[in-house]
Amino acid sequence: MHPFFARSLRHVTIRRLIIAIAVPIPFFLESLWHAGTSANIAPRPLQPLDAPFTTACQEPGVTAPREKAAAIMLARNEDLAGAKQAIESWNLQFNQWFHYPVVFLNDKPWANEFIEELSAIATGNVSFEVVPESMWDYPDFIDKAAAKVSIEEQGRKHVLNAGMESYHQMCRFYSGQFYDHPALQPFQYFWRIEPHVAFTCAIPYDPFRAMREHGKKYGYAIALWELGETSPSLFRAVADYKVLHNIRSTSFWSAMVDTSWAPWPLRKLLASMLPHRDGHGDTWNHCHFWSNFEIADFAFFRSKEYRDFFDYLDRKGGFFFERWGDSPVHSLAAALLLDPAEIHRFDDIGYRHPPFWTCPQNAREGQMLESTSLGTADNLSGEREDGIGCRCSCDEDDKKANFDNFCFKKFDQAMGVKRQW
Ligand code: GDP
Ligand code: MN
Repeated sequence: MHPFFARSLRHVTIRRLIIAIAVPIPFFLESLWHAGTSANIAPRPLQPLDAPFTTACQEPGVTAPREKAAAIMLARNEDLAGAKQAIESWNLQFNQWFHYPVVFLNDKPWANEFIEELSAIATGNVSFEVVPESMWDYPDFIDKAAAKVSIEEQGRKHVLNAGMESYHQMCRFYSGQFYDHPALQPFQYFWRIEPHVAFTCAIPYDPFRAMREHGKKYGYAIALWELGETSPSLFRAVADYKVLHNIRSTSFWSAMVDTSWAPWPLRKLLASMLPHRDGHGDTWNHCHFWSNFEIADFAFFRSKEYRDFFDYLDRKGGFFFERWGDSPVHSLAAALLLDPAEIHRFDDIGYRHPPFWTCPQNAREGQMLESTSLGTADNLSGEREDGIGCRCSCDEDDKKANFDNFCFKKFDQAMGVKRQW
């Protein structure tokens, strides 16, 4: 090759190399800057904002006054066996001492058999209520025919439970209507129970009272991943709401969001194309509280802030045109609207909702407790006196949960709580 051409080729190559190295630098720096300063990042608390309400076992403190509280169970008549099993478990581990009422809710009239059998095992007042159509049926602003077509389509795509119209109605009821049910108006706190669940440790204290004494508004037992296909546009709707109302990120919100490492134009493109992203391109990691267990303050759900939030989501149509669950809706609302210190993890409650269960730490380590006066003597296990959990009978001795603890860890960090796993 002529030396002149060789030299210019070398020049061009070096120039290309310089450009190839230099051009991405600002993008790289920008993405670093975004990941470090995104509006979705809130500092983690320096002090723990949460702690177990109890350790080991204690005599149930039954002399203290009861709270205005009730257990609520939404069920169908055909859930009879599962409802009995769940209530028997709750009675054995808790309500035999505290005698709180249970309100059963159904979208259909109750069968006599259900009423008789659940009344027969009650350890407190029970009432059997019907959910008014206005709380269960499609709201006016939803195109019912189009929603039905969509629900069939979701079923064909095998989105979990999404082919059932009633499941959509249930999720919407539990997201936004249940707290206005007339039968629940006398109560300030509720404990949600579902058919087929089990409580696997004694709960010898009043969690409602503990919630009030600790200023807690929302309590959970299990945190895990939501299935993304149920709610592709939910996170975007919530994140847009957050921007619209100028709501600052809490540590819980941060725990649910992964900031994007993609550089600026790409990030924007991803935000507009992919689900589960907010306007910055940051992603919901799908962590949420599993709301089939929750102990919470109705005041949170009945607040103007929560109602406005629910109405906004409701009008987006995702309760029907997708299968938004009440679990992520409650969870994102709690992350958005509550002070993290108002959230509590009930890690002293052993809980099973098939297929998942969680069991308190230390439940089967250390010494046997002497007392048998809790009335669950045949359940005796060897809890450590400074450990969490009383007389647990969990499925596997050496495990704290039978699912990935990623979300537990995230939420513990959000509360500034360090835990051994
Ligand atoms: P999963 O936990 O997501 O599998 O859903 P479930 O089938 O357990 O339903 C959640 C709660 O809603 C439970 O308390 C059910 O008893 C209740 N539920 C679900 N669908 C209906 C329904 O169509 N009618 C009534 N009355 N209760 C329902
Ligand atoms: Mn369930």
